[in-house]
Amino acid sequence: MSDPQLRTPRVAIIGAGMSGIGMGCDLRRAGIETFRIFEKWDGVGGTWHANTYPGLHCDVPSRNYQFRFAPNPNWSRVFSPGPEIRAYLERVVDDFQLRDRISLRTEVDEAVWDEDRHVWTLTTKAGEVSEWDFVITACGGLVETRTPDIPGLDDFEGARFHSAEWDHSVPLEGKRVAVIGTGSTGMQITKGLAGVAGHFELYQRTPQWILPIPNRRYTRLTKWAMRRFGDQLEPLFFAGHQKLTEGSFGVAVVQPGWQRRLLSWMCRKHLDWTVRDPELRRRFTPDDLPMCKRLIIGTGFYQLFRRPDVELVDVGIDHIEARGIVTTDGVLHEQDVIVTATGFNAHQFVRPMELVGLEGRRLSDAWGEREPYGYRSVAIPGFPNVFMLIGPHSPFGNQSLFIISETQRAFAMGWIERWRRGEIAWATPTDEAAERFNAEMKQALPNTIWTSGCSSWYIGKDGLPSVWPWQASHHREILREPEPADWRVEQPREREPAHA
Ligand code: NAP
Repeated sequence: MSDPQLRTPRVAIIGAGMSGIGMGCDLRRAGIETFRIFEKWDGVGGTWHANTYPGLHCDVPSRNYQFRFAPNPNWSRVFSPGPEIRAYLERVVDDFQLRDRISLRTEVDEAVWDEDRHVWTLTTKAGEVSEWDFVITACGGLVETRTPDIPGLDDFEGARFHSAEWDHSVPLEGKRVAVIGTGSTGMQITKGLAGVAGHFELYQRTPQWILPIPNRRYTRLTKWAMRRFGDQLEPLFFAGHQKLTEGSFGVAVVQPGWQRRLLSWMCRKHLDWTVRDPELRRRFTPDDLPMCKRLIIGTGFYQLFRRPDVELVDVGIDHIEARGIVTTDGVLHEQDVIVTATGFNAHQFVRPMELVGLEGRRLSDAWGEREPYGYRSVAIPGFPNVFMLIGPHSPFGNQSLFIISETQRAFAMGWIERWRRGEIAWATPTDEAAERFNAEMKQALPNTIWTSGCSSWYIGKDGLPSVWPWQASHHREILREPEPADWRVEQPREREPAHA
């Protein structure tokens, strides 16, 4: 039952992926019903809705890759297959009765702040207009697919699609299939298609390091125990996995030390011990340091290249023509299907949606002149009552976005609760606070592995990686409570409506 002393905040959430769904659940759990989730795609789940390629898996342990308030006792493996995560997110949407709050196929075009009335006016691409007190951006980071600039790509007469736009009507069994790209996606597709395709070729421009962590099945006994004693066991598993991940990857990526040396050693030994052919090993050996690019996790990849129907092509691609791929040595590799696993334009974040904030400040200008930036990964100065989930500097490198988003959601909920109690009309970080935060970040970046000299999707057009350059615990610490001096806060006027 709603408390008559509390005002009723209207909250627009942009995106029905993991963090948008989580925000909807948080609002529901706080007794707030006046929210809507806008989703441009035709289903929920974000990246787990878009990506359906063969071999799709998560490389973060499932027990850390779920909402703490909605644990799933039935994960089949330590690292879950994509369809299980998608089904889990669908189930959470049903369990928390979010369906009727989600508007699918509804892309938000722009949101404009009304300085007199202290409300955001949202306009969708279809021209629908609505008003909100808060805007939560949960737009995801890896959304806009990147098409490689290979000459003749459009001349190919077979089937061609991006890994995140898989065309399931195209038969693959017995076909000649080429995958371009050796990121996490290309590697997972290789495992999914080796032995299915008649002949499979992986086109590698840059080799990548792989950390060999086996993906164990959960036994029937573990699943039973999780169902029966989940209240006690889930927090233990969560804490255990979190400690292990944050204490290993989390430290290795942000500072030199034994964690970095150990993980690097594991990657190198994995390559040495599984690829016995020295020439093939040389071709698989990266020039850059392990973890400079986002680390690939898993076992069984290198062994696939012992099969006669699986081939590594590391001669450059010259062009593509009607029948297939022509490499720089002049060889035509005939194909039936070409998959571009060439990643995403990862620096779009909230865009192309436009935000118009205080004094007409536009997000496209703020983020057009320099790389997308914000304050402590959750807010942007000049945009009152806007909170970002998984915005710029949120990626932590191989750590759970569920945990990062949980911290950001709790921070946003804190401001929503203040608004609800009538303590604020709006809040936004000051420009000075955002600049100070960004300067501190730049100072910390040289300690990180991401600046050790490689190209990766983390790197922005300023040449710096858009990542969190400290340990995960620092994120939780500095977002536990707002720093009052860092925020510009407006008090509600007497006559301000309560939308009760
Ligand atoms: P990615 O890591 O950006 O890799 C793109 C690949 O395409 C690279 O190997 C790149 O080569 C290659 N490439 C790009 N343009 C090319 C061109 N013109 N010619 C030849 N090769 C080209 O993309 P991704 O594999 O889709 O992964 C992106 C991120 O998605 C991951 O890092 C991860 O965060 C997420 N992901 C997560 C999981 C998971 O299990 N959690 C699974 C899949 C993806 P260069 O290295 O030479 O640029």
